[in-house]
Amino acid sequence: MPLKFNTCPHCNKKISFKIEMDDFDPSHYPAPVYIHHKDESCNKFSTFYFDSKFRVSYKELEKKKSLTGREIKTIKTIQ
Ligand SMILES: [Zn+2]
Repeated sequence: MPLKFNTCPHCNKKISFKIEMDDFDPSHYPAPVYIHHKDESCNKFSTFYFDSKFRVSYKELEKKKSLTGREIKTIKTIQ
């Protein structure tokens, strides 16, 4: 379960979260996952898109709809 480090697109603070293959739809890359920034001053959701090597391709500020119809998982950041 890779531990990933990135920044929240809302507040630009550093975030960390764990992600695994099960968390996204491997039939379509880049694959979206909702990231919930668990921080009292932020607490916002964004959509991160991952390539097949768990790298973030890009991020969106809001919860984007699934293109494949599969439910998108929500991952909480680790404090
Ligand atoms: Zn944030």
